Amino acid sequence: MTKYIFVTGGVVSSIGKGITTASLGRVLRSRGFTVAPVKLDPYINVDAGTMSPHQHGEVFVTEDGAETDLDLGHYERFMDVNCSAGSSVTTGKVYQSVILAERRGDYLGATVQVIPHVTNEIKRQIVQLAREQEADVVIAEIGGTVGDIESLPFLEAIRQMRKDMGYENTMYFHVTLLPQVGPWHELKTKPTQHSVIKLREIGISPDVLVCRTEVPIPDDVKEKISLFCDVPARGVIESLNVETIYEVPLRYEEAGLGELVVERLGLEDRGVKLGDWERLVTILKEPANRCRIGVVGKYISNGDAYKSIGEALIHAGIPNDCGVEVVWIDSERFEAGEEAAHVLAGLDGVVVGPGFGERGIEGKIEAVRYARESGLPYLGICLGLQMAVIEFARNVCGLDGANSEEMVENPSYPVIHLLPEQKHIRTKGATMRLGSWPCNVVHGTLAHRLYGENRIAERHRHRYEVNNDFREKLMEHGMVISGVSPDYRLVEMVEVPAHPFFIGTQAHPEFQSRPNRPHPLFEGLVEAALERKRTTTPTPETAPA
Ligand code: GLN
Repeated sequence: MTKYIFVTGGVVSSIGKGITTASLGRVLRSRGFTVAPVKLDPYINVDAGTMSPHQHGEVFVTEDGAETDLDLGHYERFMDVNCSAGSSVTTGKVYQSVILAERRGDYLGATVQVIPHVTNEIKRQIVQLAREQEADVVIAEIGGTVGDIESLPFLEAIRQMRKDMGYENTMYFHVTLLPQVGPWHELKTKPTQHSVIKLREIGISPDVLVCRTEVPIPDDVKEKISLFCDVPARGVIESLNVETIYEVPLRYEEAGLGELVVERLGLEDRGVKLGDWERLVTILKEPANRCRIGVVGKYISNGDAYKSIGEALIHAGIPNDCGVEVVWIDSERFEAGEEAAHVLAGLDGVVVGPGFGERGIEGKIEAVRYARESGLPYLGICLGLQMAVIEFARNVCGLDGANSEEMVENPSYPVIHLLPEQKHIRTKGATMRLGSWPCNVVHGTLAHRLYGENRIAERHRHRYEVNNDFREKLMEHGMVISGVSPDYRLVEMVEVPAHPFFIGTQAHPEFQSRPNRPHPLFEGLVEAALERKRTTTPTPETAPA
């Protein structure tokens, strides 16, 4: 029998429900359970693929090619699991399948309604995921904040699931905020009380309250929350701000959360193995080395737009015993006339990130040029590979005006062009080249040294590719194609061997990076960054007197 844990949020949004859900998953994984996470998102988009990163943050791509909410990235990184399309359930997806069923005549005779038809479909999708993943525990996070109109059908569905599955198989977590108010910075419980009242109105009484706070919660405040919110004292979990998000599972385990869940759901006590996790958190908190890596992008105004890249860089620091400071750089700065040398000064490495459309493109190309010419370690991701090819074509191969067909109509040298299978596609939703694709890695290249394998698989999300008509020209001038699709049709990785570390990938390696299994390309970048720092930082002997 699968157990179900539901995580809702109250008081304010952006309270860290995703990290809470992911950390709870880590706690249970470290106790030997199979966990299937799922995000229930109240928006009407069928998936996150059509939403702007400016508004919604990164679009996370699963192995099976679903374009999902960035919280799935947290789940994969903390729990070390691969999510699937079933791990993301949106209002749009639910309605799409209810309306299709209605047209097929599945409900013939019935008036199709939110309750029971929409709620049944939500429940069906959750239970189907449990079955597919043979999960001991499903953890379902409900997007939005209690009190939102949009999330009501989801809350009603999870309320019904206690009746369907039984008290002993279901648990409700509610994440709230304890603000500090007044001249004595008193911790206030009232918003939490109101949020629980709101939940109770819908028929849900939380078993656990995860209280976000900037200071430790005194015992009398915990007792007050327990009494007023009708939650057992050990169910009031303090969730203090911590130095690194990866510390959260350790704090939860310390607070007795693992034990509480195991007891309450009647799970077998298999002991806890968090030693490896503790070791990586120790390195993250006290690294022997430090480096600074810039990420050049155009969605910098939303701190979550390149979430997985930022995390992958942090993970890459772990095997290098290095704290990586990620510096976000708006590509338009280069276009506004700032010198690349000035914008990228003080960095030990640079990533040019993914993106769509022509805005900020010339800035990215300028960043590539500087990195290539100055020996600054460079990793290009998806659009970052395409920009590296354009820069090389223009400035090394002499192909003036080389560009991508995505950016200008009929460029003089279309070194990046539409994938042939994309030519006739007109609709935007879920129509890119998506999900995991195999790639052959060429012997003797940097890519081969880093991956240590002949055949790899990475996740993709793009419409354009390197134009094969220019492969030879690029190679003649010293660019190496180090990764190709198994049928040799698509360029997957390029590099410049004359440079200490210059590599681009058409894929999104950031989606496969985990703190306990950092990605080889990012690990290599940090290693090269440290090497550059060692060789360029003046030592007392080499410093001018
Ligand atoms: N816009 C480019 C393409 O569609 C790159 C996409 C990306 O960076 N994910 O090919």
